[in-house]
Amino acid sequence: MLDWTAAHFRDQAVLTCSFGGAAGMVLLDMVVRGDLPIAVVFLDTNLLFAETYALIEAAERRYGIHIDRHQPAISLAEQEQREGPDLYAREPDRCCAIRKVAPLAVALQPYAAWLSGIRRDQTSQRAATPLLQWNERHALLKISPLADWSEAEVWRYIHRHNVPYNPLLDQGYPSIGCAPCTKPANGDDVRGGRWNGFDKVECGIHL
Ligand code: SF4
Repeated sequence: MLDWTAAHFRDQAVLTCSFGGAAGMVLLDMVVRGDLPIAVVFLDTNLLFAETYALIEAAERRYGIHIDRHQPAISLAEQEQREGPDLYAREPDRCCAIRKVAPLAVALQPYAAWLSGIRRDQTSQRAATPLLQWNERHALLKISPLADWSEAEVWRYIHRHNVPYNPLLDQGYPSIGCAPCTKPANGDDVRGGRWNGFDKVECGIHL
């Protein structure tokens, strides 16, 4: 699918990678290994774990690539001034809209195809994720090449190819986003530990 994407869209395709989950690292490795003309974009909310920022730098060094970082339109200080302190603790949907959803729209603007590492077995909301789907919101083709991969397949690829990944995944964090909204989780829920205390399992960029 990555070869197909590169052939059809050339430099009009982009991979978004959170540097939190393992599946995004698999796609990043495949893009670099295949020397594909696919841009790599990372949404920096300014609230990520130190381990995530370190992984981005390690990936840039290892793969010799530039990862395009997109920041929100307003700083954390401006957000606090406008919305009050700790918006994530009161209105996480609004915080995600400012720090993730809006920057994604800007990041995707130059592209015609968007690659993402989301998988059907992650949550019930993602269970019907198609491999290819026209995305109305961003007016582009959304491609999820790993939609039908299992967690075990992701990790087999990671270990077989010695792909770098976020060390927090080995420390009880099944899914890693912003530090204030991510806790270690008990059980097998691969999105467990995110937005504890809220009826929220998606930041909004994949809705
Ligand atoms: S995950 Fe939390 S801190 Fe990050 S943008 Fe969403 S609400 Fe804000």
